[in-house]
Amino acid sequence: MIVDYHMHLRAPDESIDHTVAAVERYVEAAAERGIDEIGFSEHVYYFKQTRSLWSVPYHVERCNHDLDEYVDAVVEAKRLGYRVKLGLEVDYEPELEEETSELLSPYPWDYLIGSIHFLNGHGIDAEPSLVEAVGVVEAWRRYYETLGHAAASGLFDVLAHPDVVKMFGPEIEWDWEAVASSLDGARLEVSSAGLHKPHGKLYPNPELLSAARARKIPITLASDAHVPQNLGRDLDRAIEHARAAGYETVTVFDRRQARQEPLG
Ligand SMILES: [Zn+2]
Ligand SMILES: [Zn+2]
Repeated sequence: MIVDYHMHLRAPDESIDHTVAAVERYVEAAAERGIDEIGFSEHVYYFKQTRSLWSVPYHVERCNHDLDEYVDAVVEAKRLGYRVKLGLEVDYEPELEEETSELLSPYPWDYLIGSIHFLNGHGIDAEPSLVEAVGVVEAWRRYYETLGHAAASGLFDVLAHPDVVKMFGPEIEWDWEAVASSLDGARLEVSSAGLHKPHGKLYPNPELLSAARARKIPITLASDAHVPQNLGRDLDRAIEHARAAGYETVTVFDRRQARQEPLG
């Protein structure tokens, strides 16, 4: 089975479009590409209901959309019989776990994806970056420590682009077994999005993925498409990457219940 569980609903002009018509464009693209099931994972910070969680300008400036409209569009698409899942890409705020949980608990999620895009006010995958601010070793230390807290929080079903901190290199030696052991109980996204960044690499790196496999941490698949044309892009390489690490199954979600299906 091939799933793509990480994408953002957009209109053809790439503006935000939380409508059934937008869902239908992604469903068509999935059918064309042989993707069995897709799930949407809009950024949590686009919604005015989440405004109280944010402090960095990048987040605060974007809370203009209605979370109910987004949820309703995907729920209605499901009712119409489309094989789609309702997810959300949630920036992890370690100090605000309870508030995050309370804000999101009323909605019928199939899964929540935890992400770290900013730490201590600096970007992880945006500039000015934490790597520039504190150096690569300290940036990685803080990032992986926080990722471990995200996993332990129980807020998330999946962790997005787990080694995205490599965005602003260099990549260095790291204790990947220690990282994987801090992620027990979570699931990791194997994402092809990094292939289209300057570093040109899949997430996560082979060492982290093998360490996760050794700990029996399950995976999902992700393109992180922001337009339907990119849905499913390079998932064949993500599947190959997962197989090389020893994975034979992929996680499928229904209302936050996970099960394993044969991979590919
Ligand atoms: Zn992300
Ligand atoms: Zn994303």
